[in-house]
Amino acid sequence: MSSLHIKGKPKNFPLAEVIPACRRLVDAGATIYQKWTCGGCGRRVQGNNPNMIVEMGHCEECGHITDLKKTGCNYTLIGELTPELMRVLR
Ligand SMILES: [Zn+2]
Repeated sequence: MSSLHIKGKPKNFPLAEVIPACRRLVDAGATIYQKWTCGGCGRRVQGNNPNMIVEMGHCEECGHITDLKKTGCNYTLIGELTPELMRVLR
């Protein structure tokens, strides 16, 4: 199993875009972790549970809960890039 991480400037996208994108990836066999920027401490937070999207993101560092419906979020894709997944990503 390989995993690819592309580092760049953290970006957040509206939940309404992230949810269908993640659904397609998970349906194609991928594992995703939700990510967002904490509205309290500014830390980049990653969700604890695979393939789970939350609307309210809890930060374990400062305890702040970020309303991701307002701020948006992103996700990390983990796993092997299967041909099926490549089709979804294209
Ligand atoms: Zn925080």
